[in-house]
Amino acid sequence: MTALDSLVDALAHGSVAVVDLTLPLSERTPLLQLPEPFANTPGFQLRELSAYDDRGPAWYWNAFTGGEHVGTHFDAPVHWITGRDGEDVSQVPPSRLIGPAVVIDKSTEAAADPDYLLTVADVEAFTAQHGPLPDGGWLLYRTGWDARADDQQAFLNADETGPHTPGFDPECARWLADDTPLVGVGVETVGTDAGTAHSFEPAFPCHSFMLGAGKYGLTQLANLAQLPPTGAVLVAAPLRIVRGSGSPARVLALVGRS
Ligand code: MN
Repeated sequence: MTALDSLVDALAHGSVAVVDLTLPLSERTPLLQLPEPFANTPGFQLRELSAYDDRGPAWYWNAFTGGEHVGTHFDAPVHWITGRDGEDVSQVPPSRLIGPAVVIDKSTEAAADPDYLLTVADVEAFTAQHGPLPDGGWLLYRTGWDARADDQQAFLNADETGPHTPGFDPECARWLADDTPLVGVGVETVGTDAGTAHSFEPAFPCHSFMLGAGKYGLTQLANLAQLPPTGAVLVAAPLRIVRGSGSPARVLALVGRS
């Protein structure tokens, strides 16, 4: 049996399950909110073209509008100034869109402290127990934030000092970008950086280091609780938008079930 025959067989018999890491994309999808004077992204909108009516008697279809960075989405290197000479989303090699994933669970820590920052020591504690970070793979950072994804206010968790959501500390972001074989990181929050990362040195270190290193980000993931710490295979499928800085994406995980 070839490897693909084995995979098809495993999918048919349920020994490999497909977990959807994608949130529903709609007018209600929570949006990043930047302060003045920065431009904000429009949300996702559908406009009906016909629905089995005079405009098209046998067919239903819509047009859609919205920002590239809305809902579960992919950040391409060119999204950040440090990656401006890098790939746009249409140029990402397909082989980099499928790979092994590890899941680091800091949901308990993030429940106690919404500003929780993942550190190098956290990742090293994980690798000491589970083995090295996967070559060509993804680090998925579970914080429990997907439980807030149907409530814009709870999702952004902002007060008079700004948003409070978990992220990566600057040294961890630099280390993941420069010194690990990962291709990207995935988070459950509105962006890969912490809510308070505008005040970090450098500002928005995860965007700055990861995209500057030609790596990728995935945001607003869901259902990471259904993944094992190691052994899942992630499939990220952003739209191939020419010159795009990112795209809403369907993100799936293949998970072994014994
Ligand atoms: Mn983004």
